[in-house]
Amino acid sequence: MAPKDFPELSQPQVNDLVEKLQHWSLANGLVMYPPNFESYSASVAPITLFPTPFPKKSFENALAIQKHFNELYINVVTHQKEWLTNILQSLSKFDADFTGNLFDAYKKSQARGVKQPLSLGLFRSDYMVNDIDNQEQPEIKQIEFNTVSISFGGLSTKVGQLHNYLNKNGAYDDKYSYKYYEDEEIPISNSIKELADGIAYGDSQYNSSGSTANKTVILFIVQDGERNCFDQRHIEYSLLDFHGIKSYRLTLEDAQEKTTVNQDKLYIKETMDEVSVVYYRSGYSPSDYESNPELTWGARLYLEDTKAIKCPSLLTQLSGSKKIQQLLTQSETVKKFLPGLSESEFTKLMSSFVNIYPLDDSEDGKIAKKLAFESPEKFVLKPQREGGGNNIYKDDIPGFLKNLPEEDWGAYILMELIHPSNFKNKILRNSTVYNEEIISELGVFGTILFNEETGEILQNENAGWLLRSKFSSSDEGGVAAGFGCVDNIYLY
Ligand code: ADP
Ligand code: MG
Repeated sequence: MAPKDFPELSQPQVNDLVEKLQHWSLANGLVMYPPNFESYSASVAPITLFPTPFPKKSFENALAIQKHFNELYINVVTHQKEWLTNILQSLSKFDADFTGNLFDAYKKSQARGVKQPLSLGLFRSDYMVNDIDNQEQPEIKQIEFNTVSISFGGLSTKVGQLHNYLNKNGAYDDKYSYKYYEDEEIPISNSIKELADGIAYGDSQYNSSGSTANKTVILFIVQDGERNCFDQRHIEYSLLDFHGIKSYRLTLEDAQEKTTVNQDKLYIKETMDEVSVVYYRSGYSPSDYESNPELTWGARLYLEDTKAIKCPSLLTQLSGSKKIQQLLTQSETVKKFLPGLSESEFTKLMSSFVNIYPLDDSEDGKIAKKLAFESPEKFVLKPQREGGGNNIYKDDIPGFLKNLPEEDWGAYILMELIHPSNFKNKILRNSTVYNEEIISELGVFGTILFNEETGEILQNENAGWLLRSKFSSSDEGGVAAGFGCVDNIYLY
C-alpha cells in the first residue's frame, strides 16, 4: 500500500502550523542549545513538520530483532572474550590514540580485578529501508549498531507527542477540523521512560547485590557545553518521577575531583550519595579526552575500577567497533555467537545486513580492495569512530585510500550504500522551513543488564525508537552536527 501524501496546506496554514509547533516544542522541551549558547536560552530542535512515511512491516521487523541484537553483542563481550580481545588488540595498533587507549584501560582494569561483574547496555541499532529498487518488498538494512552514548531517546518521545498534538489539534487538516492521520498510524516512542527503566533496573540490581545505602544515585558522565543536554535531562526526570532515583552530572574532567571511592564503592563527594550506575553520554569520541588526556583517560579507568555498574563497560563500548560490526555480518559467526535463535529468527536477522568488507589481506579483503577502486560509488568507507562526520563516501574513497599506506587500510571497513526512498517533507531549522527531498534512518533502542563474567542475562528489553531524517543530497545525518533533524514515523 502506498502512503497517503503529506497534508496540503496554504502558506498561512503552514505559518500557523509552525507557530503551534514552536510553542509546543518550547513548552515541552523539544529543544537543544544553539551553537555559542547562553545557559538561559534554548532553541526548538531541528524537526520535521509532518511525520515521514515508514513501511509498517519494516518497522515491525526492526523492533522484532532488537533483543537478538542486544544479545548478540553481549554474547561477544561475555562468551567470545578471547575472539573480541584478539581483534581489539590488532585494531589498537591502527588506532592507538583511541581504540588503543580504551583497550589499554580495559586491560589495566582487568589486571586490577573486576569490582562489578554486572554491566548495563543501552544500545541503538540504526537502519534504513532499502527500497529504491524494490518497492514491493522493502527491507530494513542496518547502518550501524551503537553500544555507547546513544542519543535522541529523549527528543524522540517528544517529537512523537508533538506530531500527535498537531494531528489532534487539526493543524494538519486544511479545514482545521479533522485528524489527518489515525492515531495508530503515528505511534509515540516510549524511549524516555523505557531507557530510564533500563537504568533503574541496573540500580535495583546493584542494590540487591549488597549495597548498604538506602538510596543510590545515577552518575551521568557528560560533555562540557553539551548542546543536546535536554535529551539527557528527559531521562533524568523520568528516573526521578517513576523510580525516585536522583541523578548527578559530571564531566570526565571533574569526575575524580567530585567523587570518592571507599571499599570500591563510588560516592558523590559533596553529599556522600552512593552511585549505582555510571551512565556515559561522553567518552565515545577522541575529542572527549583531548582537553587533558591524562586526567580524562585516568577518570575512565578510575570509574571502571569501582563497584558502580558501567553503562557501558569499556569492553561493551569496544564491542560496537565498526570492525566488529563487519565481522558480525558473517552467517557462521552469527550462528555460533547466537546459538539459541530459531531458523526464522536467524533469517530475519541476517536479512538486515548489507555486505560489509574488511580491507585487509583476507580473501574478502582482496575483493574489497578491488571494489573500492572499480565501483566506489556503491560504497561508504568507515573508520573506527563514532559520532558522525568521519566517513568517506563514494568517489572520495579511491583518493583517500591512495593517500594512506596500505598497511593502515585494515583500520577501515567498506560498506555497501543503502538506498532508501525519498520523501518531500518539510524541515524546520531555526526560523527556516525547507521543503526538500529527505531520507530517513530508524534507530531502535534496547536495554540489557548482564553479568560480564558469566554471560547471564538479567533483563533484555526493547526501549522505543527514533526516526532521524536528512536532505537526501547530504551523505551524513548528524542532528547536532547540522546535517539532519528529529522526525517520527507515519506507518503505512
Ligand atoms: P557514526 O558512528 O559516525 O554515526 P554511521 O555508520 O552511523 O557512523 O554513519 C553516519 C551516517 O552516514 C549515517 O547516519 C548515514 O546517514 C550514513 N551512512 C552510513 N552508512 C551508510 C550506508 N551503508 N548506506 C547509506 N548511508 C550510510
Ligand atoms: Mg551513526
